[in-house]
Amino acid sequence: MALRPLIAICGTTGVGKSKLAIEIAQHIAKQEAWEGAEIINADAMQVYAGMDVITNKVTESEMQGIKHHLMGFRQPGEQYVVGQWVQDAIKIISDIHCANKIPIVVGGTSYWIQHLLFPNRLSNEKITDKKGPQAAVMSEELARSFRTLPPELQDLFNSFPKQPPLASVDPEQSLSLHRLLSTLDDRVGARWHWKDTRKVHRSLCIIRETGRKASEMISNQSENTVVARYRALCLWPYAKPAVLHPRLNSRVDTMITRGLLDEVRALQHIAISDRQTVTDESSADYTLGIYQSIGYREFHGCISSPVPSDDAFNVAVENMKISTRQYAKRQVSWIRNKLLPAIKAANAIEETVFPYLLDASDVENGWSSNVEDLAMQITDDFLRGKLHLDPLSLSDVAREMLTVEEKATDPLFVLTARRKMICEVCTANKNEPVMVEEGREWEVHTKTRSHKSCDRKAKATFHGYRYGKKIERIDTTESQAS
Ligand SMILES: [Zn+2]
Repeated sequence: MALRPLIAICGTTGVGKSKLAIEIAQHIAKQEAWEGAEIINADAMQVYAGMDVITNKVTESEMQGIKHHLMGFRQPGEQYVVGQWVQDAIKIISDIHCANKIPIVVGGTSYWIQHLLFPNRLSNEKITDKKGPQAAVMSEELARSFRTLPPELQDLFNSFPKQPPLASVDPEQSLSLHRLLSTLDDRVGARWHWKDTRKVHRSLCIIRETGRKASEMISNQSENTVVARYRALCLWPYAKPAVLHPRLNSRVDTMITRGLLDEVRALQHIAISDRQTVTDESSADYTLGIYQSIGYREFHGCISSPVPSDDAFNVAVENMKISTRQYAKRQVSWIRNKLLPAIKAANAIEETVFPYLLDASDVENGWSSNVEDLAMQITDDFLRGKLHLDPLSLSDVAREMLTVEEKATDPLFVLTARRKMICEVCTANKNEPVMVEEGREWEVHTKTRSHKSCDRKAKATFHGYRYGKKIERIDTTESQAS
């Protein structure tokens, strides 16, 4: 059966996503082929009731009579996570399709949109949105490798350095990290030179964060081949940081005049009165859900203080602006580093998800020409099943942002890339092994003067070593011949 159509609108705050969704819904309503369109909220904070300023909800009048789903239906303190949202959204989308309407999913939580578009990817991931930099629970396979580590490497794993060391400054720790990686996940370890401490460190970070080896993630990925749940048009209104940041700053100022502080007080009140009345069996957690929203976090302390101070208030305003910018940055990097690669992977099998970036840098004067008109044209093409605009040709910024490089941290890439091999001949000090990439680089290396000179000095046989075990004898005449 052909996949049903869905329009998703993702991107940062302050680029007009909600407005665009309503415009598209109105546009579709005018077409004979469809009964109209309905909007499904994909913003993790807008699912909560009240707190309209903090969560930046569209107003009733802005909705223009378009039905909005999954908005403001959860109580503050209730936890509502990606898996629940995906289930709820699927049900509503199915109803919308049955009514011969088009579902438009819109929101800044691209993480949710991604899991809606691509099923079967949740089982292997953290279902809760609770974040933490701590090491994740280890898979059995990783735990087995962990137990084989010598105590000093277990210590290194547990007191893991935040920053990678410099190989030239601290060769000992650099090599230890490489040994740690090679023991935990030999295939990934073999990919990096021990002096490439940044990559070794990054790979170890991934192992710590996911609790898995890259090789495990590969087998999980092949079990869950990325197949889209819908035929989806993915619109991404985007503004460059230089224009977005001032816009986000003035948004924060507007929020404060619109009553952000009252909402923070109301949230505090809910948390306090609930704590007093509910003694047990409470599922509410006042560190989660809306209590994580930008605005609450920053103003919570400043409002609770018995002595109100202008300085504390100004600091809170500045912090909220910083948090908002940082959030926007994370939103963009999620789209580029997670969503776009997932789309690419799904499209490798069959082209079903179509990403388009719309330049929303000039919302005052450029909205209709750069965003609205283009979005309507693309929507029409998409609904007719004939998309002919090349997404990369729309603008320079579209080309730049939609082009995603193959990432070194992608486990697939890591495992298919060439391995670094220790050149036993050139390694004089086993605490600082000489490593060379297999393939062409290795061939070139073996012809270099320095390698040949080391080779001459070496005897016909010598003692080599590798991590963990000593290799008794390596016949150099044989390795030369191959
Ligand atoms: Zn060599």
